[in-house]
Amino acid sequence: MIGANEEALLGEASTLFENTNDYYFWAFLTRQKNYPMQRDLQQLPGGELLQIAQDMIGDWHPTLRHLVSLTDQSTVIATPLRIATTIAPWESQNITLLGDAIHSMPPTRGIGGNTALRDAQLLCQKLIAVARQEKTMSGTLKEYVTEMLHYSFAAVKSSKQSLEMIVMENSVGRALTKTALRSVNLFTSRKKSS
Ligand SMILES: Cc1cc2nc3c(=O)[nH]c(=O)nc-3n(C[C@H](O)[C@H](O)[C@H](O)COP(=O)(O)OP(=O)(O)OC[C@H]3O[C@@H](n4cnc5c(N)ncnc54)[C@H](O)[C@@H]3O)c2cc1C
Repeated sequence: MIGANEEALLGEASTLFENTNDYYFWAFLTRQKNYPMQRDLQQLPGGELLQIAQDMIGDWHPTLRHLVSLTDQSTVIATPLRIATTIAPWESQNITLLGDAIHSMPPTRGIGGNTALRDAQLLCQKLIAVARQEKTMSGTLKEYVTEMLHYSFAAVKSSKQSLEMIVMENSVGRALTKTALRSVNLFTSRKKSS
């Protein structure tokens, strides 16, 4: 469900969330070459994209296919995944960067937004130190950039590794990955029942 709902706009939550309805979210990921037509997917309407995804998951579990079939086609979009390349710390003056603007990563580990929030918190702490005259602006921004690049590019790297695992086409590699995931499942369900 996209767009504000009335309850959210009327309530106090409106300052943070414009929509408090329940929703589910799915994403279909594959290499560009696997799509049946080599057209610019971003130009296609939601209905056509939904049909492409449904055709490509024709042999998936019926429950998953049913969930996808319930999708409101106006909410379907195609997004190319972009992965930032490593960069050395730079000298900042009054402008710096945070979030996807500096370290965009594929959503395959679900940590892009979390990393952006971590940047915001770190930058906030640094700016408080400047406001308290404990540090200079240029020195503290350099510290922020150095620290932020360190953990964020570790996140970019691990998200890229997960992406490679998800779109892997080597059948031996896929079988190994499935076995590893099933073992984790087995291990966690045993842990819960013990
Ligand atoms: C399919 C998918 C699933 C994801 N799942 C997760 C997840 O589970 N967990 C997680 O942590 N992260 C997830 N992410 C990543 C997360 O969405 C991003 O990392 C996060 O939104 C980055 O936040 P940001 O504020 O840096 O950038 P954005 O959220 O892109 O915000 C930038 C804003 O700036 C605005 N803007 C752009 N240009 C201008 C301009 N010239 N003037 C004014 N405004 C402008 C844009 O409209 C936008 O609102 C996912 C991403 C995708 C695509």
